[in-house]
Amino acid sequence: MTEESERQARFRWFRDGCENLHARYADLSQGAPADYIPELARVDPDLFAIAAMTVDGERLGVGDATHLFTVQSISKLLLYGLALEVHGRDAVLEKVGVAPTGESFNAIELDDRQTRAPNPMVNAGAIAVSDMVTGAGPDERLERVRAMFARYLGRHPEIDEGVWKSERVTGNRNRAIAYLMLSHGIISARVEETLDLYFAQCSLLLSVEDLAVIGATLANGGRHPLTAEQVVAHDVVRDMLTVALTCGMYDYAGEWAYTVGIPAKSGVGGGILGMVPGGGGVAVFSPRLDGHGHSVRGVRVFEALSRRYGMHLFDPDRPSTRPG
Ligand code: GLN
Repeated sequence: MTEESERQARFRWFRDGCENLHARYADLSQGAPADYIPELARVDPDLFAIAAMTVDGERLGVGDATHLFTVQSISKLLLYGLALEVHGRDAVLEKVGVAPTGESFNAIELDDRQTRAPNPMVNAGAIAVSDMVTGAGPDERLERVRAMFARYLGRHPEIDEGVWKSERVTGNRNRAIAYLMLSHGIISARVEETLDLYFAQCSLLLSVEDLAVIGATLANGGRHPLTAEQVVAHDVVRDMLTVALTCGMYDYAGEWAYTVGIPAKSGVGGGILGMVPGGGGVAVFSPRLDGHGHSVRGVRVFEALSRRYGMHLFDPDRPSTRPG
């Protein structure tokens, strides 16, 4: 078999696995959709999709793979990349650390000395990162974020206006976090504008197929597998994937690293995006969440895929772990 046909055979094997897991977990009805705002609770809880894209641009989508849902906290990963590119690592590290917290995503918590948000994946750090989005006013800043997404997706993602408005009305915990950071000089005084931007980025509408493209790009050192465009700088990708591995799943990050072993980010819309460096991106969407705010079926699918296909980064049998 040539190298190319071997790759294709392996991808067919992977596709079969995704189809089987989709069928196996379709009846799993544990957990419940996020209900902190009515707009999110209204989602059909049975929606379920798996998508993947390799760094060579091969792709698959199973189930409701084109259904659009709000990206929520998965946006934090991309915004972190944008901040690193625009401001540089040192400037970002001054305001946002890289330490996992062991707390839930919306904990009202800074670092020990109260000078930084703990990490960019919890709400505090993500709001501090959103504060760093440059632009003259709210429209220009939001446009900058959508344009960044467009480099991955080839289109500007729409915003779920209903979710955005509701996040704005009910987001008082995030407001508390933001004002705490203002009082410690971590973020600038345009607090309401930045919160609104954070709520807007959470309300962007993506499908699992979109997430798989993003994941494949990051797994490919920031180079888009289809357009070959360098969407985000190489060294920035390393930092993004590192915090995704250590902090992306919040207080479940340790268990996730242990059982799944790849960088990932989840959102309360029901999406989980995982990246296999050098391999590709995998995404699952299913709105029923566990107590950590992660998709129940999503966690199960990733655990099974990682086991079956040796995706764990520290698996000694992982084919690409040999240097040289
Ligand atoms: N909009 C949500 C919030 O800020 C996002 C949280 C998440 O997806 N974990 O609370």
